[in-house]
Amino acid sequence: MISAPRLGFLKPGMLASEWATAQYTSYDRTSAGNREEATNLLYSLVQEDAPKVERITPESLAVCLWLLRSAGDNTLFSRFSITVRDIYQHMIESFSPDLVDDAANSLGLRVEKVEGKTFRIRALDFIRSNTHLSGTRYRLAFQDVKDGWVYLEKLVLSKVLREHFVTRIKEFYDAIDQRKAVDILGDLRGLMQYITDQWKDIKGKRTTDLGTVDQSLFPPCIKEYLVEMRDGVNLPHMARFTLVSFLHKIGMQNTDIMGLFRTAPDFNQRMTEYQVDHVTGQISGTEYSPPKCDVLRSNHLCYWGDDRLCHQEWLRHPLQYYTLKKSDRFKKASSQ
Ligand code: SF4
Repeated sequence: MISAPRLGFLKPGMLASEWATAQYTSYDRTSAGNREEATNLLYSLVQEDAPKVERITPESLAVCLWLLRSAGDNTLFSRFSITVRDIYQHMIESFSPDLVDDAANSLGLRVEKVEGKTFRIRALDFIRSNTHLSGTRYRLAFQDVKDGWVYLEKLVLSKVLREHFVTRIKEFYDAIDQRKAVDILGDLRGLMQYITDQWKDIKGKRTTDLGTVDQSLFPPCIKEYLVEMRDGVNLPHMARFTLVSFLHKIGMQNTDIMGLFRTAPDFNQRMTEYQVDHVTGQISGTEYSPPKCDVLRSNHLCYWGDDRLCHQEWLRHPLQYYTLKKSDRFKKASSQ
């Protein structure tokens, strides 16, 4: 367990390349310790037999983020954020109530200990983070809300904090100048080469088996959800709903859809079965359709990038994208 003063979170000064260079090159005990912690964390992403990392400090975390930024691989960063998120949550769960307050404040959140094992958090802060948590226990409608405060037990609060933690490290990662991150690597270039090579190897061996369904025709949003599922990211509720309803509508079997969710960090067989059966009409008798593009876009779940079809004004729906691509392929095949 780390002590209270170590709870301070990532500081703006850590974004300066001079700070990172000093961490990479200095031989004082603290910098060497931060470097060792960061190296162990990075090894744990790509080596099954790497020592288990159970604590993180703001400094070792910032060193990792600088190193990862030099690699510029979003899937590797995604794997890293899940790993540190779980370490962070575990640390929060082991904290005394006073330290939980400190941890929340260091993330810029207002959390107060109420009594016994209960805490309260401002409702807006709760809503901002719970979209990434699946399960009814994390929905606002199931919480005790009074005067703009949401009352939570420690276990639920630790999950809310971990989602804020992930948001903060993503902001920090995005704010690092990638060119500078590459320039200052020095002797750590070899380490990052090894980590990225190993990661490419791991990715190459992992495929998502969708049976007879042709993934190359999927719109970018659905492809992104599948990549995130494969990488163990907890998808927001709407993304899960979209994925299940989309795959069902294009003809995938419920058991195959279920199989995709097994890699989710919070996978629960019974709950997933219920959700899939509900969305596909086995329970309710209503077969749901995926949301339209503008709904996904306003929920930050559209990943159109520079996809030409997605940018057509008339494109309204992910299923429309799939149907068009399929008929286009059919036309090409029959004209050959
Ligand atoms: S425009 Fe529509 S189909 Fe394309 S990525 Fe966005 S939500 Fe998906």
